[in-house]
Amino acid sequence: MRIFYAGQWHDGNAQIEVRHPFDGSVVDTVPQVGASEVEATLAAAVQGAAVMRKLPGYDRFLILRKAADLLLARQQELGKIISLEVGKTLAEGVFEVTRAAETIELSAEEAKRLGGEVLPLDGAPGAAGKLGFTIRVPCGVVVAITPFNFPLNLVCHKVGPALAAGNAIVVKPASNTPLSALKLVEILLEAGLPPLAIACITGSGGELGKLLCSDSRVRKISFTGSVEVGKQILEVAGIKRVTMELGSNSPMIVLDDADLNKVADAVVATGYGNAGQVCISTQRVIALDRIYPDLLEALKPKVESIKTGNPLAEGTKMGPMIRERDAVRVGEWVSEAVQQGARLVAGGSRQGTLFQPTLLADVQPHMKVAADELFGPAVGVSRARDVSQAITLANHTRFGLSAGIFTQDIDNAIRFAREVDAGNLHINWGPAWRADLIPYGGLRDSGFGKEGPKYAIEEMTEKKTVIIHTQAN
Ligand code: NAP
Repeated sequence: MRIFYAGQWHDGNAQIEVRHPFDGSVVDTVPQVGASEVEATLAAAVQGAAVMRKLPGYDRFLILRKAADLLLARQQELGKIISLEVGKTLAEGVFEVTRAAETIELSAEEAKRLGGEVLPLDGAPGAAGKLGFTIRVPCGVVVAITPFNFPLNLVCHKVGPALAAGNAIVVKPASNTPLSALKLVEILLEAGLPPLAIACITGSGGELGKLLCSDSRVRKISFTGSVEVGKQILEVAGIKRVTMELGSNSPMIVLDDADLNKVADAVVATGYGNAGQVCISTQRVIALDRIYPDLLEALKPKVESIKTGNPLAEGTKMGPMIRERDAVRVGEWVSEAVQQGARLVAGGSRQGTLFQPTLLADVQPHMKVAADELFGPAVGVSRARDVSQAITLANHTRFGLSAGIFTQDIDNAIRFAREVDAGNLHINWGPAWRADLIPYGGLRDSGFGKEGPKYAIEEMTEKKTVIIHTQAN
């Protein structure tokens, strides 16, 4: 595919091959651009921001509303592209398109609600008779840097609110999965977006990322990806707004009053989706001693029954990982855990990029499979003697994105919500659940700032305070 910047589609000299993670076949190519294209992109984005600032909110609503419809009209085609570039199953790809359309629709609605507040100046000493209020104005140029695992919906979570707020946006998608982001540009242009308001450029994250994030014409960076890259962005960003949606090793606590069948279903649904390559995947299950053996017994057959294979084939429930080196890494961490005393209950083997759904028991907090972000299809189960120890173990991490608990006890459920340090807390489900309208974001090393169009838009606008120094009372 070609890339889009400065209001036009462009070819490039060097090309990046986009490969299907399942068999390595080349799906498409995209240009690999560098410094001169970044300069042209940003210069045009500044003009785009000026155009967008003048476009009324209602017009922005109409464009985004139409884009949501176009996304749905092309759902099957886009779902297949997502499946081909990420390796997730076709059903997961098609579902991502539904969510992307929802995200753009929510953003469209927010374009109509950019209000301010009247300030109670009458209550300030010496301010009688004055009138104060706030207005929200766009930031200007927003840069979005996105990961491989949800290549359409996570782009929509940045593009939708940025455009709804009246900004221009430059997208730098992951090099492994740039195709659906470029398709989104096609759709937005077809929906009537001013061409200078959007750009999507491809190339090395290190090179393009540094140029884009350090540039003072950019007023807002919205990044989703790993902690390591997040830190590099913060080092160069300077004075501008930044949102960081980073990684995690999400826990799920299981108390002894839980329905273990439901728990096992939730672990399968929230631990192995997209081959575990979901930022809020269940990675650590912490179960009380009394139900620990029964939980493993309930989990084993369900994990073993997850059908793996070609993500485009009917019946496949889990596809490959994005790159072979990631599957190799998961294998190394699983083997290391076993050497350190963990028990392999299911899976553990690899064919190329396909890592079998894996279940480990007797996992200890210091093992890499518990301490770091695994980002693969393996779940580790650990014991806790009581709810206090379970909460301590859940918090034994530098991350804080999402967590779950299974219990029928309301006091323990609320205690979990209060005491577990995570931005998203699920009672009677696993951590990997999100509706696109919720305020979503992490604590600790999982980042800062919220997504969900209503909340992202606040971070993509500036609040100004206006005071009228009237003499009238
Ligand atoms: P990644 O390696 O951090 O890459 C993310 C993006 O950053 C890519 O577009 C990458 O470009 C770019 N990049 C690389 N180096 C850069 C630099 N120095 N400056 C600026 N940008 C740079 O992450 P990933 O492997 O694609 O995705 C997996 C990670 O994303 C996991 O940690 C996961 O938890 C996290 N994630 C978080 C959320 C959330 O909502 N919190 C959601 C999804 C994923 P290239 O591809 O060209 O290198």
